[in-house]
Amino acid sequence: MFFEKVAVIGVGLIGGSFGMALKAAGRCKHVVGCGRSDANLGSALQRGAIDSVATDAAAAVRGADLVLVAAPVAQFEKIFLAIQPVLPPDCLVMDAGSTKRDVVAAARAGLGAKLSGFVPAHPIAGAEKSGAEAAQADLFKGRKVVLTPLPENSPGSIQVAREAWQALGAEVSTMPAEEHDAVFAAVSHLPHLLAYALVSDIAARPNAAQLFGYAAGGFRDFTRIASSHPEMWRDICVANGDQLLKELENFSGEIQKIKMLLQNRDAESLEKLFDDARGARARWLNGEYR
Ligand code: NAD
Repeated sequence: MFFEKVAVIGVGLIGGSFGMALKAAGRCKHVVGCGRSDANLGSALQRGAIDSVATDAAAAVRGADLVLVAAPVAQFEKIFLAIQPVLPPDCLVMDAGSTKRDVVAAARAGLGAKLSGFVPAHPIAGAEKSGAEAAQADLFKGRKVVLTPLPENSPGSIQVAREAWQALGAEVSTMPAEEHDAVFAAVSHLPHLLAYALVSDIAARPNAAQLFGYAAGGFRDFTRIASSHPEMWRDICVANGDQLLKELENFSGEIQKIKMLLQNRDAESLEKLFDDARGARARWLNGEYR
């Protein structure tokens, strides 16, 4: 599997890493990038994530045999509409979006007759850093990539998508878009929302300076992901709002349970909850759920 021309729309952490990784794996001849910020594209060029810059998305995909859309998810429909008229018929299009039902809807609205060449993908390889400056060639090594194929996809295009991510060292699985969004609402989107909420609450208090002054390792670990890109997380939360509301409801129930234990000074039940949670986290860290 070798791509002659790869177009990356949105050359940030994920798009930049994709270009770097494909080149490092010797799987492509030329990577062209397009984006919103000249400074970021300059950095992508300098770091070797892309070989050239296109003026817009349509210019980038002309003559491409692989396209990765890696902008924030609310941008996707506009991008699909722009590239659809010039997309080569045999070109494989993938995305890297963190949500999938909205991305599939955007592709259906924007790609028209070219829809069958679009294989939705989500690399589970993020970080709280953003931009081409943060891109790394080994970002996808040993990480999972979830494909949520469409009924319109040919087995051949799904296989090429799978092999492209595998060539970057990723472990590829598939699931329906609905299941994807429910799973990631629980283990990714809710934790990000909680991290942002805690920092926002502390920052708004009159004694915020004192509180931040004494915050240490626990606060740092819990809130690391509140350093993530606000636009990207705005789009994810809006796109997956229904699933996120279900998770918030469920989490509120857990908080209510803990409140009761505190009110009743039920130390035994509290310790059991902590012990069970620590055990579950240890099993997860040990790779028992892989
Ligand atoms: P990023 O902020 O590092 O990069 C996004 C890039 O897209 C930026 O350079 C931005 O200028 C560009 N962009 C924005 N609108 C554009 C448009 N209309 N046309 C072209 N370029 C545009 O973000 P990232 O972390 O690389 O995330 C990219 C995508 O990958 C998002 O859809 C995100 O949901 C998904 N994702 C992120 C992570 C993560 O943890 N960072 C993990 C998996 C998937």
